[in-house]
Amino acid sequence: MVKIEIDLEKCTGCGTCVDVCPSGVYELRDEKSVAVNVDACLLCRACEIQCPNSAIKVIE
Ligand code: SF4
Ligand code: SF4
Repeated sequence: MVKIEIDLEKCTGCGTCVDVCPSGVYELRDEKSVAVNVDACLLCRACEIQCPNSAIKVIE
């Protein structure tokens, strides 16, 4: 089971995670990232690696 933690203090709502996720896991709501579709996560870690603020942790 995958768990995604987003540090909302660090998230600036840049949208990178929305753009890079191949599975549509993220949406922006009120300029913060929300993982709305965690079950679709492929564990590719593109979001974790590319978030400019290191706000995302993908936990297996
Ligand atoms: S890439 Fe990081 S800073 Fe940008 S919206 Fe996603 S979680 Fe927030
Ligand atoms: S690990 Fe990959 S599939 Fe999972 S949320 Fe991040 S970018 Fe999307």
